This record gives sequence, C-alpha cells and structure tokens, in this order.
Amino acid sequence: MSIVLFGPPGAGKGTQSERMVKEGKKTHISTGDLFRAAMKNKTPLGIEAKGYVDNGQLVPDSITIGLVREVLDANKEGDFIFDGFPRTSPQAEALEELISEMGVSPIQHALFLEVPKQVLMERLTGRRLCKDCGAVYHVKSAPTAKEGICDRCGGETYQRKDDSEDVIATRLEAYAKSTEPLKEYYQQKGLYIEIDGLGDTDSVFSRIKPYL
Ligand code: AMP
Repeated sequence: MSIVLFGPPGAGKGTQSERMVKEGKKTHISTGDLFRAAMKNKTPLGIEAKGYVDNGQLVPDSITIGLVREVLDANKEGDFIFDGFPRTSPQAEALEELISEMGVSPIQHALFLEVPKQVLMERLTGRRLCKDCGAVYHVKSAPTAKEGICDRCGGETYQRKDDSEDVIATRLEAYAKSTEPLKEYYQQKGLYIEIDGLGDTDSVFSRIKPYL
C-alpha cells in the first residue's frame, strides 16, 4: 500500500522518505525533487516552475498534477511514498482519481510530520544540499566534515534559494493556507496519522516505522 507524507516545509519529509524507501521497498515520488531536477535541466516544466519555487509559492495544481500523472504513467507498479504531494485539496482529490484510474497501489496512511514553527525556521535556514547527489546537511545539527563539501560524494554543497528567511515566510503561509486543511481531509477519510517530527532522524523514523 502507498503512503502520503505531508507536513510543513522543514518538517523532515525528504530525510524521512529516504529512510522509508530503504526500509519499506516503496518508490519515492517527491514533487519538490522533481521540480528541482527539471529546473536544473532547464526543461520546459523547470522553466515554468522556477518562478513559483524560487519565490516560495505553490506551483499551480494543473502543472503539479500533470507531473505526477506522467511519473505514474511511466511506472505504476508497487507501492509509493508521496512526499510533498498532495499539498492542496484539489491535488488530494486528483491523487485519488489517478490511483483508481491507473490501478496504482492505494493510500494506506497519510502521515503528518508535526514540528513547531520556531524549529522549522532553524532547520530551513541552516539546511544545505549537495549539488550532485542531493544529500541533506545542516550547518549546526548535521554539518559536513569539510565545509562546503559533501561527505557522501565530494560534491559541492549549497543553500536552496527558497531556504532564505523571506522566502521561508511565503512557504509557511502557503502551507498554512493550502496544505494544513489536508489534515482534516485525511482525518475524514480515516487515513490521518500524526507523527512527532521533533528529535533526530532515527527517533522520528522509529515513530514512522510501524506504519510502513
Ligand atoms: P519541497 O522540496 O517539498 O519543499 O518543495 C519545494 C517547492 O516546490 C515548493 O515550495 C513549491 O514551490 C514546489 N512544490 C513541491 N511540491 C508541490 C506541490 N505538491 N504543489 C505545488 N508546489 C509544489
């Protein structure tokens, strides 16, 4: 069965998805990663998405849903972890339609990662990523051994444009307005599970593991 992982920006969705993939043999679909890859490769989708992503706004539903449809079309087999998708009610409805229309493994749980706002700010402003392999670091809580160099592959690390304080504020607003209502959406469906997202990666993952 598939899993939806949602929560505010900086809640740890990407980090926990990585662990979940290793443990649960599910395929990871992160719309944020897909947009960033398209932007890096300057594809038409990337060019269209860039203005929204860099400014901390949500990419319009039609584009985002179209992207997920394409990805599922290319591979519908097995179970999925939907990371950062859906982020709006229309996306949640579209995901259900795609699942039934394409015969994709249905959603078993919608896991919500709960993290207080103050902690989100600290996590996001200190986050660094590897340009080459995408490994995630934090300047204080998970620094690279050598500043600016990825421990895993030796690539250069960078700060996401949308991890600057002013853009984070816009992302948190978008989250509160469009994504938080999904809590109720999934509660009504009986799929909602709240996970305490505070603490180190292992502790948070130990709370997620029973639902894989
Ligand atoms: P993330 O890596 O999940 O933090 O996503 C980075 C950015 O990509 C977001 O701030 C949005 O601009 C865009 N994005 C990712 N997923 C979605 C989505 N499901 N709907 C709309 N925009 C998205």
